[in-house]
Amino acid sequence: MPATDEGLVHHIASALLHSARQHKPRIYNGVSGQVLRRCLDDAPLRAALFRFIDVLPQLQGSAAQAAHLRAYLDEAGSTGLLPGLMKLSARPSLSWLATLQIRHLAQNFLVEETPRALALVLNKLAALPATVTLDAVGEAVLTEAEADAYRDRVLWQLQQDWCAKHGQRQAPHLSIKLTALAPGFDPLDAGGTRRRVYARLTPILELAAERQATVTIDMEHHELKQQIVDLFLDAVVHFNDPRWQPAIALQAYLPETRDDLSRVLEAAQRSGRRLGVRLVKGAYWDQEHAWALERGWPMPCYLDKAATDANYEALTAILLARTDTLHVAIAGHNPRSLAVAIAHARQAGLTATQWEIQMLHGMAEPLRDALIEQDVPLRIYVPTGDLLSGMAYLIRRLLENTAGTSILRQTWLDEAQDAALLQRPAPPVPSASTPVSAPPPTLPLSDFSRPEVRAAFQRALDSMQAQLSERPATGAERYQSRNPHAPQQILGSARMTPLNEVDAIIAAARAAQRGWAARPVVERVNTLSALADHIDAARHHFAAIQVLEAGKPWREADADVAEAIDFLRYYGAQMLALSGDHATVDFPGERNRYCYRPRGLAVVIAPWNFPLAILTGMTAAALVTGNAALIKPALPGLQSALALRAAMDAVGIPRDVCPLLIGDADLGRALVAHSAVEIIAFTGSRAVGLDILHEAHTPRSGQRHIKQVVCEMGGKNAIVVDADADLDEAVGGILASAFGYSGQKCSACSRVIAVEAIAPSLQQRLVAAAATLRWGDPADPSCDHGPLISAAARQKALDYIAIGGQEAHLLWQGSVPQGDGSGWYCPPTIFTEVRPEHRIAREEIFGPVLALMTAPDFATALAIANNCDYALTGGVYSRLPRHLALARDEFRVGNLYLNRRTTGARVGVQPFGGIALSGTGIQAGGPDYLKQFMWMQSSSENIMRKGFVPGGE
Ligand code: NAD
Repeated sequence: MPATDEGLVHHIASALLHSARQHKPRIYNGVSGQVLRRCLDDAPLRAALFRFIDVLPQLQGSAAQAAHLRAYLDEAGSTGLLPGLMKLSARPSLSWLATLQIRHLAQNFLVEETPRALALVLNKLAALPATVTLDAVGEAVLTEAEADAYRDRVLWQLQQDWCAKHGQRQAPHLSIKLTALAPGFDPLDAGGTRRRVYARLTPILELAAERQATVTIDMEHHELKQQIVDLFLDAVVHFNDPRWQPAIALQAYLPETRDDLSRVLEAAQRSGRRLGVRLVKGAYWDQEHAWALERGWPMPCYLDKAATDANYEALTAILLARTDTLHVAIAGHNPRSLAVAIAHARQAGLTATQWEIQMLHGMAEPLRDALIEQDVPLRIYVPTGDLLSGMAYLIRRLLENTAGTSILRQTWLDEAQDAALLQRPAPPVPSASTPVSAPPPTLPLSDFSRPEVRAAFQRALDSMQAQLSERPATGAERYQSRNPHAPQQILGSARMTPLNEVDAIIAAARAAQRGWAARPVVERVNTLSALADHIDAARHHFAAIQVLEAGKPWREADADVAEAIDFLRYYGAQMLALSGDHATVDFPGERNRYCYRPRGLAVVIAPWNFPLAILTGMTAAALVTGNAALIKPALPGLQSALALRAAMDAVGIPRDVCPLLIGDADLGRALVAHSAVEIIAFTGSRAVGLDILHEAHTPRSGQRHIKQVVCEMGGKNAIVVDADADLDEAVGGILASAFGYSGQKCSACSRVIAVEAIAPSLQQRLVAAAATLRWGDPADPSCDHGPLISAAARQKALDYIAIGGQEAHLLWQGSVPQGDGSGWYCPPTIFTEVRPEHRIAREEIFGPVLALMTAPDFATALAIANNCDYALTGGVYSRLPRHLALARDEFRVGNLYLNRRTTGARVGVQPFGGIALSGTGIQAGGPDYLKQFMWMQSSSENIMRKGFVPGGE
């Protein structure tokens, strides 16, 4: 890499800065500019403004606009002249003013997609010694129609009259986002994604070739980066018509970008084509950081802005030294960074055909003019789109203009010293990725965007599949575990526990419990921790079992295993805090203490739908508190239970302390009824749960204790969609909640109650997005959803679909694999015109069946949601603080989710469990759970002896 001539860089940068500082960028002028400038130092006001901009496209009418603006400003609590004026405008008669200002702001950056508006801007820019590139702004799409619309916008751009430059024809030059070309863009389904993207990319690149255009593939979130680079390199080979110019954007805030650049260079050499690279700093830092913390994945970007700047300079040097194979675009607004590029280009004698600087339309015009004075090849990046729906883009640009670290802000508003702005950035730490500081609260889910993780998971699946057989084991007393996708395939079999063996098993467990309880708490905690580590080390194996036995797609299976591990670690930590003596109130002559003691013998009765997580969670709670635990899994989850018991063997949990009993309802009933049992930890259906409660609270002869029942039951969960909901979020969240694991989660959404104003558009997008989901073999990562657990479960769901057909209106039904041996699939179904009294609105269905209802207003929608026997999870999509507060106060559910999906609770983060007929109200994975497995003893000791008080002298 050629060394940077610091003297030259400094000279150019100073000239740029000096010239640029003669004027202020347009964005900071006028009323909206005043507001922005005030927002720089008033973070709550800035948040209020951004929230208003975010919701604006969804608001119908001035009353709604005024209500939102007022609510956000009230929450911000800012005082002074400007916030006061803003509040004044937050009334229906004046809210048009705020809307107008935001349109003005948007117009700074975005050009409307009409031939007239575009020609106007292109002609204006033609007066500059600069070329243009267009970007049809778009985000990831949910439906095929949205992807079609995006493709058509790009085709439209290609067809425009690009003769704007002094009457000379310009070749079209544009950027596209691959995620906007196909719904379901997913690293787990590389082949399917490629096929879907190519269906729309092909006509674009064909026209691009005809028009001799440059097409730059934009870079997006890190999770998709690998796939985007792969697709770009693939397109270079696949669409090898030399008339179009391929280019890709690379982000300097990623340490990995150097490797990606090497791949691009190699591809350029191999293909003999000159490829384009646009170097940017990266626009998703805040999101990447938030996601990394939430997911517990390494932060892919540099944490330190100077490191990004230094990497940018280093990459600039590499790129500009390779203009033999690359066409290089250096995109940015930082005078020093751009000066580095100019210095390298001058030293190398590069011409306008080899490199250029790119700047965003509407950003930092004074710097643009300063660059023109320096006579550098310049291209203006012009985003086009609808002024209102381009709000996400607008917010990103405003962030860039107002963030504390923003170079624009430092240059023009903070009036930072030249020396500080021109200082050479400290070089980055040479690590592949920077770990986030806080340790993740739960085990991170597998990152399937990493090829090695996909390969490891596939290997685990392959080895499980190799053990499948189609020959049933002999012996009537053996249970055969079947693959619900291909029921003729048998995963294994096991001997059912005869009822007449129960007494002996219980006697042995009671005897063993004493020794187990006598072990120091730390030892029990360490044993569970060892079990967690053991499962963690084989997590893909445990997940593969669920793919084949429970019909769980990869991500669902992986999450279940992670949750099991979390339970083991979380309850261990909780037990350490609960163990020992705890003081209440002491007096000089009296010492008061309490402690927790194990109850004795627990029976754990688990469902099949989280075959490892729920079984492990209830078992861990029983064991760590010092009880023996007889575990009875549901038969369709047997293989997971067998694997769990084998893992227990490996870490030394005695079989007598935790015997595995294999059987169905009869065995469960026998265990529940046994007089020696002291705790019943049950998770399953409402009917069985209520039976268990009834039976457990009826003492048997000789029974001298009350059985403690931990009882988690079903749900009929609702999501309320308010008139101002973000439909991108709501549609994605509803579909994930309703159809995730084919609707077989107790937390699944099965009712949507939409406020009438939004119902038609919600329905339309929901159906279109649902149609993009793929149902099929869960072992195939291209499938989003799989079969139901059994023939009986399928029949039950189909019966409800028939009932729904009579009660309501069938809005949409998807297709699933059909035919002999094709598995227990139930078509995903959406009903509309459902009323609260309908059975499909009241009864738990446990399949992919969704009931859509409407309500005139938010409060009524909430009342409908609450009018239900169950109260497990509930969701609300709204952007009005008052409505979110109402939901917090009045939505009576165990787990309330605001503006996110209703499934996927994390141990210790979202303790989980319901009330009403969904459960007893003490949540699994929460701080109170373990106490149910113990009894509490308090002791009070008189320590005064004949008037002598120890420690009192
Ligand atoms: P289920 O009630 O049919 O069976 C659960 C367990 O109970 C199984 O092990 C079963 O063999 C056993 N069992 C059945 N009848 C019994 C009886 N009379 N006495 C003792 N044990 C008996 O439930 P399922 O089909 O396995 O699971 C799905 C149900 O579980 C759904 O209703 C779902 O909502 C609920 N669920 C609730 C939660 C929660 O946390 N609230 C979590 C997962 C599943």
